[in-house]
Amino acid sequence: AKARGVELVEFDAERDTASVDRLALASEMQAALAADDQIVIQLQPSVDLVGGAPLGAEVLVRWKHPRRGLLSPASFIPDLEHTDLIAPLTRRVFELALGTYRTWLDDGIDAPVAVNLSARSLLDRELPEEVGRLLAEFDVPPDRLVLEITETAMMSELEIVDEVLTALRELGVRLSLDDFGTGFSSLQSVARVTVDEIKIDRQFVIAMGSSRQAEAVVRMTVGLAQTLGLRAIAEGVETAQQRAELVKLGCHGAQGFYFYPPLDPDDAKTVLAARG
Ligand code: C2E
Ligand code: CA
Ligand code: CA
Ligand code: CA
Repeated sequence: AKARGVELVEFDAERDTASVDRLALASEMQAALAADDQIVIQLQPSVDLVGGAPLGAEVLVRWKHPRRGLLSPASFIPDLEHTDLIAPLTRRVFELALGTYRTWLDDGIDAPVAVNLSARSLLDRELPEEVGRLLAEFDVPPDRLVLEITETAMMSELEIVDEVLTALRELGVRLSLDDFGTGFSSLQSVARVTVDEIKIDRQFVIAMGSSRQAEAVVRMTVGLAQTLGLRAIAEGVETAQQRAELVKLGCHGAQGFYFYPPLDPDDAKTVLAARG
């Protein structure tokens, strides 16, 4: 993925085995968390598809690796899921996000910010209490925080996941169903948890123009969201044509390079300040 012309690189480009990788990754992540300036965030605004006004922003983690450059989360989060470092990394992302957001609130900017939860976080019974503590610490109203969860993550250990999601909802944070349509249980996940938003995965947005099936999936998801009184946000919108098609289908919001790439916090703040 491109972030403002900066090419994000993969972690494991020159490694040979997955387990060696994972060990190296874990110890380097441990160092990164101790180092204080290696884990940073960018924020990508989403917009209202009709008026074009910014709706909020999604927090995306980046790893400024001392030797490998700026690493994409897609290259280290999946492997970290197999280690105990997801929890401390998630905590760091919350601290960075809420710390940034606190300064925005002080300047009168209150558009919601969204943080991604990994599959492993949904199995962490201590997560809700920790999120509550962090919201209190940074004095951020719970309904300003959106947590993005994937259907795939929701489908393991149903009981624990339900307990964690229920406790998160009781805190008053909002939930967003991320990458919708990419798992095998999209409809089941919608039926199971109360969410506030559905994010239509980029693969359907890409295929929409050339595939009747993809267009039908987008149309169905928008209709489902409308029936349930939720917002549908299309991900990965890159062209004016995709934008026009989504407007035609009645999609509420969108996110993608056509509107804004992931931005450094100060630039994201400038965009959201113009929200009116
Ligand atoms: P995602 O949740 O689907 O996030 C959107 C990804 O799509 C981001 O990649 C973003 O930069 C990219 N993107 C946005 N607009 C466009 C577009 O128009 N075209 C294209 N080609 N790409 C676009 P990124 O930042 O590399 O993040 C990848 C994934 O890593 C995210 O996918 C999310 O699942 C995960 N992730 C990011 N930050 C965190 C985090 O703090 N915690 C956890 N657990 N996962 C995270
Ligand atoms: Ca997301
Ligand atoms: Ca997504
Ligand atoms: Ca996606």
